[in-house]
Amino acid sequence: MSDCVVIGGGLIGLLTARELMAAGLNLTLLERGEPARESSWAGGGILSPLYPWRYPDAVSGLARWSQSAYPAICEQLGEDSGIDPQYIRSGLLIADSDDRAAATEWAGRFGVQLLWPDAAEIHALEPRFALPVQTAAWLPDVAQVRNPRLVKALRADLENRGLEIRSHCPALGWDLEGERVRAVRTPAGPVHADSFVVASGAWTAGLLESTGLTLPIEPVRGQMILFRGPAGLVSRISLYKDRYVIPRQDGRILAGSTLEHTGFDKQTTEAALATLREAAFELIPDLARLPVEHHWAGLRPGSPQGVPLVGPHPRLSNLYINAGHYRNGVVLGPASARLLADHLTGRLPIVDCSPYLIEIK
Ligand SMILES: Cc1cc2nc3c(=O)[nH]c(=O)nc-3n(C[C@H](O)[C@H](O)[C@H](O)COP(=O)(O)OP(=O)(O)OC[C@H]3O[C@@H](n4cnc5c(N)ncnc54)[C@H](O)[C@@H]3O)c2cc1C
Repeated sequence: MSDCVVIGGGLIGLLTARELMAAGLNLTLLERGEPARESSWAGGGILSPLYPWRYPDAVSGLARWSQSAYPAICEQLGEDSGIDPQYIRSGLLIADSDDRAAATEWAGRFGVQLLWPDAAEIHALEPRFALPVQTAAWLPDVAQVRNPRLVKALRADLENRGLEIRSHCPALGWDLEGERVRAVRTPAGPVHADSFVVASGAWTAGLLESTGLTLPIEPVRGQMILFRGPAGLVSRISLYKDRYVIPRQDGRILAGSTLEHTGFDKQTTEAALATLREAAFELIPDLARLPVEHHWAGLRPGSPQGVPLVGPHPRLSNLYINAGHYRNGVVLGPASARLLADHLTGRLPIVDCSPYLIEIK
C-alpha cells in the first residue's frame, strides 16, 4: 500500500508527485488514459500569465514562486531524464498594453522587470513584428518551456525514482470510513492509501461531486495551431488582443489560442483555424508563407479568476485537491505542487494558503 495516491497524470499531478516523493512519501499515480495527453500537452508553455497585471495577487504570487524555481527544475529534469524541456528566456512583448499605470504598479510590487520600448526598439527586439504600435510592454525575463517535453521528462524522471504510474486506470469513486477516504475505486478494484490527491484537471469537479463538493471548475476549450518555419525566424513571444505567437527553438511557431465553453468537446474547428491564422499574420506577416503543420485543442481546468484550488477537502481529512489552474497551469504548477505538499506533510506553507482553500458552498 502506498502512502499516497495521486489521481491525474497531467503536469499538476506529476509535479505534485515530484514534491511528495521529495518529502519521502511512497506514491502511486492513477491516470484515466495515458499521462500528460490532455491540457498539459496541449498548452503553450509560456511561463507567465498573459497580461499578468490583470490577475489577482493569488495568481501572481504562485507565478513568481514558480518562475524562480523553473530553471533548476528544468536543469535537473534535463540531466536526469536526458530529455531537455527547452527552457528559454524568450521575453514577452505585449502590444495592447493600454493599462500602463496598473502594469507599472503591479511590476513594482512583484519585482518584475517591465520596460516600454518605442517603435524602433520593438523592431530591434523582434524584426518580424509588424503591428504599427508606438509602444508595447516588454517583459524580458519571461521564459517558456516546451510543455510536451517537460511532462515527458518529468514522467521519465519520476518513474526512474520509483513512482508507480497506473495508466488506463480511472478513479471512479470513493470508499469512505467516517471522515476519511479508505480507498479510491477503479475498474481494477479499490486502491488503498493513507492520503489521496485529486489533480484531475477539467474533470476534477465531476470526480468530487459524490463527496458533497460542488467545485467551480469547468472545461474551457483552447485551440492552437503550429507553423513550421526555419529556426530563428521569430525569437520573442508576442501578444496582441489575447492572441499570441510562441517561437520554439527548432523554428516551429505556435499560435493560440481560443477560449470556448463547449463542455468536454475537444474537437478542432475550421472557424478557429481561420481566426488563429488571421491573428498570427497580423502580428507576424511572414507566417503567411509557412505551412500549418498541426492544429489541436485542449480542455483547460477553468476556475473563477484563474485561482487554483489547492488544499485539503473541507470534510474528508485525508483527501486533497490541486486543480483549477485554468490558463496558467504550466507557470503555476511548481508552486501549487509545493503548496499542496506543504499541506499534506504539515510543513509551513510557501505562501499564504487562504486564497486557494476549498470551502463548502
Ligand atoms: C491551448 C492551451 C494553451 C495553454 N497555454 C498555457 C501557457 O502558455 N502557460 C500556462 O501556464 N498554461 C497554459 N495552459 C494551461 C495549462 O495547460 C493547464 O492549466 C494545465 O495543463 C492543467 O494541468 P492539469 O494537470 O491540471 O490538467 P491536465 O493536463 O488536463 O491533466 C489532468 C489529467 O487527469 C486525468 N484524469 C481525469 N479524470 C481522471 C480520473 N477520474 N481518474 C484518473 N485520471 C483522470 C486526465 O486524463 C488528465 O491526464 C494552456 C492550455 C491550453 C488548452
